[in-house]
Amino acid sequence: LANLMDVSFADVIGKCMGLGIMVSINQRLDAEVIELVTEEFGFEVSFINLDDVEDEVDEDEEDDLEDLKSRNPIVTIMGHVDHGKTSLLDYIRRTKVASGEAGGITQHIGAYVVNVDENKNITFLDTPGHEAFTAMRARGAKITDIAVIVIAADDAVMPQTKEAISHAQAAGVPMIFAINKIDKDGANPQKIYEQLSQMNILVEEWGGKFQSQEISAKQGLNVDALLEKILLEAEVLDLKANPDKEATGSIVEASLDKGRGYVATLLVQNGTLRQGDLVVAGQYYGRMKAMFNELNQRIEIAGPSTPVQVLGLNGAPQAGEKIKVYNEESEAKDIANKRAQIMREQGLRTRKHITLDEIGRRLALGNFKELNIIIKGDVDGSVEALSDSLQKLSTEEIVVSVVHKAVGQISESDVLLATASDAIILGFNVRASSQAARLADVEGVEIKTYSIIYNAIEEIKSAMEGMLEPKV
Ligand code: GDP
Repeated sequence: LANLMDVSFADVIGKCMGLGIMVSINQRLDAEVIELVTEEFGFEVSFINLDDVEDEVDEDEEDDLEDLKSRNPIVTIMGHVDHGKTSLLDYIRRTKVASGEAGGITQHIGAYVVNVDENKNITFLDTPGHEAFTAMRARGAKITDIAVIVIAADDAVMPQTKEAISHAQAAGVPMIFAINKIDKDGANPQKIYEQLSQMNILVEEWGGKFQSQEISAKQGLNVDALLEKILLEAEVLDLKANPDKEATGSIVEASLDKGRGYVATLLVQNGTLRQGDLVVAGQYYGRMKAMFNELNQRIEIAGPSTPVQVLGLNGAPQAGEKIKVYNEESEAKDIANKRAQIMREQGLRTRKHITLDEIGRRLALGNFKELNIIIKGDVDGSVEALSDSLQKLSTEEIVVSVVHKAVGQISESDVLLATASDAIILGFNVRASSQAARLADVEGVEIKTYSIIYNAIEEIKSAMEGMLEPKV
């Protein structure tokens, strides 16, 4: 407050004392006191409701059914390191992006569109991995329609394969399995299907519902068949958008380019973006001075599911930040500034993520239906035992849902998943890595660690009964 008014801390404290309020330097003042004190200094305060601002930016009117047209599926490729995600994305980009008459060379702009059948296209996000996917989701962006999980046939279902599956499932995104490296000696797809079946994932070949395709990303073998399967899945999803309105979408990546200023790639998710549109993205805004496709060709309009690189924003928003078009410069500026203020305040702001203490309060409000939990442990047996026991705590009112469980330390990716899924992380005989602990602190994610299974179960049970003693 002192900083905002450009006066000394001592003066603020002095004025408070003059008003009969004893405060220390690092104490938060309530709204009433702030009003009184600022008045003393000749300022007038106005409070903005942060939730209102966020809602304002989030709103996207419902479309009439007749305005909706089919749009491309947007696909993210995930899987364990070295299983071939990048090779697959590179192969598809190299061979399938319509390079056009201009002999355009594809550029990495964070996403690209490939033409599969005559008028059937797929949009690929060019940053593979579930971390990027979940980081965007943690910011509220729901971009991906379909996840392709790449598993090397000469290897096995690995820890990050399991993570990728959990992350896609937590987001409710359908999965297609690409069993890669079938050109290699020792490739054994059946072994992979068997391992997947142990996770209750049955591929079609095994009588289940998940599509899978054996491929070689390196040789390009069966990649066409994989693309066809993606289109099939998309058809089932019946993806639609309304191109005849102003654009909404999400930032895919953004940076400062020495020559060109701030450059951002955004994905239009609904409506159509036009050159000259005034866009707000997170805490930044600006007119779209120029727009480019993945072939570095200038374009003037971008419809639903189209990634476009734009010049004109006055900063680099984070990936996953939502975009919206405004008509009035003053309004755009106002929203962007309010969002900037939110970003500044966020450090001070209590996050809305779930904690054990919070369960009782949410129960009292009557809108708490599902308790999401991530379990990490030192051995498989205890992870499974804990997971089973916790799921059995489900009642008619609250379902306990284990969004991810695995052996190992609590990682940053677990914390991101907890942020995106509003989950609590339970560690059994394991701790959080220092990066994970830091991120959890920033994101307001609760991590509880136990060394006795009974204690974990009892504590969750009491919390669900709203019986935990509130911490003071
Ligand atoms: P990522 O970490 O999942 O992105 O994996 P990469 O795409 O970087 O691939 C890891 C390594 O596996 C590289 O050396 C690739 O050349 C190799 N690789 C990827 N796909 C195939 C494949 O289909 N067959 C063979 N033999 N090697 C592959």
